[in-house]
Amino acid sequence: MNNETIMQYFEWYLPNDCSLWKKVAQEAQNLKEIGITALWLPPAYKASDGKDGVGYSVYDLYDLGEFDQKGSIPTKYGTKDEYIEAIEKLHKSGIKAIADIVLNHKFGADDLEQVIAVEDNPQNRNDAVSAPKLISAWTKYTFPGRGDKYSSFKWDWTDFHGVDWDETRKQSAIYKFYGKHWDNEVDTENGNYDYLMGADIDLNNLDVVNELTSWGKWYIDFANLDGFRLDAVKHIRADFYKNWLNEMRTYKNKYLFAVGEYWSRDINKLNHYLETVDNSMCLFDVPLHYNFLDASNSSGFYDMRNILNGSLLQAHPDKAITFVDNHDTQPRTISSIMDPRLVQASCLFYYTIKKSRNTLCILWRLLWNTS
Ligand code: CA
Repeated sequence: MNNETIMQYFEWYLPNDCSLWKKVAQEAQNLKEIGITALWLPPAYKASDGKDGVGYSVYDLYDLGEFDQKGSIPTKYGTKDEYIEAIEKLHKSGIKAIADIVLNHKFGADDLEQVIAVEDNPQNRNDAVSAPKLISAWTKYTFPGRGDKYSSFKWDWTDFHGVDWDETRKQSAIYKFYGKHWDNEVDTENGNYDYLMGADIDLNNLDVVNELTSWGKWYIDFANLDGFRLDAVKHIRADFYKNWLNEMRTYKNKYLFAVGEYWSRDINKLNHYLETVDNSMCLFDVPLHYNFLDASNSSGFYDMRNILNGSLLQAHPDKAITFVDNHDTQPRTISSIMDPRLVQASCLFYYTIKKSRNTLCILWRLLWNTS
């Protein structure tokens, strides 16, 4: 999928009014007319914080706003039927639907389990700093509101590497379950950056891999998806998504677009990851984003001849999905903060350098005109 103009159709602070899917359906034709060819939609499954959740704290991958779980039937963005209808409207308008795939972690377990774990040094997760001890971990997922519909798979602690909360002691730490190990082929920040948040999914567990493969096929068919935005890939062993994407594409017998979020401005890490996954996905051009940030913060002293230095656009243009900012770079979110006054200028500049390239990811602010 080249020559696409992708729009991220959400931001962190959308109101919790369950209306986004209806808006997508209403706006599909307008989006087509202004040149959008693919829409990146937010995580569509039920989050641990229900309709108040942006979607990255995944509770149930099979609940696309269909079951009374976590306080409501709809997600923050609407119901399952509204989601399906929104994608149908996109397709009628000739726009592809890109789903946000979050498989690194889960939140909001239904029950506690007693698990033996060791604490790892947060700055070096290869380094255990406690003896094995019994903790109470939120790792039992039974989905009482959904039951066995679509899948009878229930999650327990054996499906995870670890957690960051011991309910017994009300204590936060990096708890690695006894006998488990953090995966190789993840980012080396903090020694090993497999653990990011919540209950970290054990993607070496064959039952888990089979379940997530089965879910992926179900999801593509159920929602008629055209591609994926893959969350937090630097916290997931590279082989997993290489194999998962291969399974999905083989199953559908067609190329399904994929862009990974490898949040690092180190171009060597991005290049290494692409090589490891056999170039099976594009990556967001995070280094270019940081160059924009530096330029924005330079009070006019940035040498624009350097704007592409160290970027994926320069190193691997066919795999670069460029962007100015996203839901994680908004003020009070998790990553860098772009000066809102300069976003529009960055957009214009960005558009000029991307005009003749193959893929363009337009940020939400450009069209929604908010800051
Ligand atoms: Ca992980």
